[in-house]
Amino acid sequence: LSAQNLSAQKLTAGKEVPVSSEPIIEIQNLNKWYGQHHVLKDVNMQVLPGQKVVVVGPSGSGKSTLIRCINRLEEFQQGDIVVNGHRLTEARNLPLVRREVGMVFQSFNLFPHMSVLENVTLAPRKLRGLSEADARARAAALLERVGIAEQAAKFPGQLSGGQQQRVAIARALAMQPQVMLFDEPTSALDPEVVGEVLDVMRGLAQEGMTMIVVTHEMGFAREVADRVVFMDRGELLEDLPPAEFFGAPRLERTQNFLSRVL
Ligand code: ADP
Ligand code: MG
Repeated sequence: LSAQNLSAQKLTAGKEVPVSSEPIIEIQNLNKWYGQHHVLKDVNMQVLPGQKVVVVGPSGSGKSTLIRCINRLEEFQQGDIVVNGHRLTEARNLPLVRREVGMVFQSFNLFPHMSVLENVTLAPRKLRGLSEADARARAAALLERVGIAEQAAKFPGQLSGGQQQRVAIARALAMQPQVMLFDEPTSALDPEVVGEVLDVMRGLAQEGMTMIVVTHEMGFAREVADRVVFMDRGELLEDLPPAEFFGAPRLERTQNFLSRVL
């Protein structure tokens, strides 16, 4: 983890308190259309350094689109997103933001023709200018941390889904991002390996990483999230601490959703 991220936290009587109350991500009046289809409707959200936000909602509600806008994998037509002080609507900020925001996808998206080690060293060498030796040292430490050091020479196709997803997390972390985005990281996994990926994510959360996680794992949301955000039909409808979100959701649409997933 980056030193900056760790130093943004301090321990006070066993409780993590963000030193900075400046948001690291600020989404302002975000609107996006696919053709005529209005998929994000005036979305506003702030994330403080070290916060973990879990995004839930029915399929098609705009969760993926929202987090893909945060590192500009998707364009948007109105509003603004500021990441660590960089405004995404300014084109020159894009490479910076892409480096600072790590992303993990449902389908892993590893490079199939490269070894695990090469997958994790490629971007730091190309985009951060790390030497081969430094990139390898960093990759080895990260693979160790996600519990996969012994698989470094294998190709993605030789690994289980859970192992591939842990490699994908190590690959994202190798860029030393300030923020990690996860888009349903366990949805494509066999049930017996979901836990090993959630454990890695829990570890990251405990170390103070700022995280936005789209997931249907309500146990993870309850346990790890500082806030649960509920989206439905392109609108961000609730933004509450997990105890309130699960215990006393305000809206009928939220109650209906929860009655279906819990
Ligand atoms: P979620 O992740 O919550 O399931 P998405 O963000 O993937 O929802 O999708 C939001 C809406 O945008 C859906 O109605 C979906 O069909 C539509 N959509 C997503 N991607 C595209 C695309 N590339 N082109 C057109 N419509 C899209
Ligand atoms: Mg999605």
